[in-house]
Amino acid sequence: MSRRLPAATMAKPKVPKDYRQAHLHCRTFGHTWHLGEGSPDGNGFYRFVLLCEVCKARRIDTVNRRTGAILPGSRRYEYQPGYQAKGEGIVRRTVYRVEFIKRITNEEGN
Ligand SMILES: [Zn+2]
Repeated sequence: MSRRLPAATMAKPKVPKDYRQAHLHCRTFGHTWHLGEGSPDGNGFYRFVLLCEVCKARRIDTVNRRTGAILPGSRRYEYQPGYQAKGEGIVRRTVYRVEFIKRITNEEGN
């Protein structure tokens, strides 16, 4: 059922050679969130700050204290420099995974 894409669109953006291992880890497996400081945020809301213990990203959510719903548009991520590779297009998770395996098996790539 998978639709084949034309060859031209198959050129995949690569993971930069100097991409940090911590960033690669989170791109591959997702973030490992721990609760950071939080605080009441206005009337009826609470602001959660989550910290990734691996790459030190922050996730900030404003939650309705009564319903538990996240205030629409409030979720925000703050990344360490270098996490978002610039001008490379969207690198797919599979590409990060391949790079992760290359690194842990000590292949140099080329
Ligand atoms: Zn992370």
